[in-house]
Amino acid sequence: MIRALFRLMSYSIVVINLISGGTFLYMIAPYTSYFFFNDLRFWKYLKYYHKYFFYSATYIWGLLSREQELIKTVLPLTSPSMNRPDPTLFRISKQWNLPEDSCGECNRCCTFIVDCCFLDTTENRCLCYGSLFWKYFNCGRFPSSQAMLDYCKCPKFEIRG
Ligand code: SF4
Ligand code: SF4
Repeated sequence: MIRALFRLMSYSIVVINLISGGTFLYMIAPYTSYFFFNDLRFWKYLKYYHKYFFYSATYIWGLLSREQELIKTVLPLTSPSMNRPDPTLFRISKQWNLPEDSCGECNRCCTFIVDCCFLDTTENRCLCYGSLFWKYFNCGRFPSSQAMLDYCKCPKFEIRG
């Protein structure tokens, strides 16, 4: 129940932020900062707020206009937080020859539909790794479904046979 309320609140914030032209995230800056970056010191992250506005608008538009099949991969509201794919469904691919905690040069799950605004392309790393956003939505648990695995052509994970 708490998780469902949290997700509904998060989706509402995205919608209100879009309607407000990206200003709402600034109004709730400490929460925004904690939600995305695990840090209440919002002044360190203000430059990402407008980037998230454009990212979320472009992502939602791309989802609705071009990639409708991905809508069915949206998580159930009560899904738990996760920091790895479900080990009963996925395992590291036998072809994967990098460390298990590395994705090497790959960033396909951070660049589908549109490049994520939190991807540091210089070092190919996630700027909000481990945050509420990361754990409660698609990032920490990627791949969350076979559809996502196939869509992103992830070279690291495979379905357990
Ligand atoms: S893992 Fe990080 S960089 Fe990748 S999509 Fe998620 S938030 Fe963006
Ligand atoms: S698609 Fe797979 S290998 Fe590529 S960044 Fe995502 S999890 Fe890592």
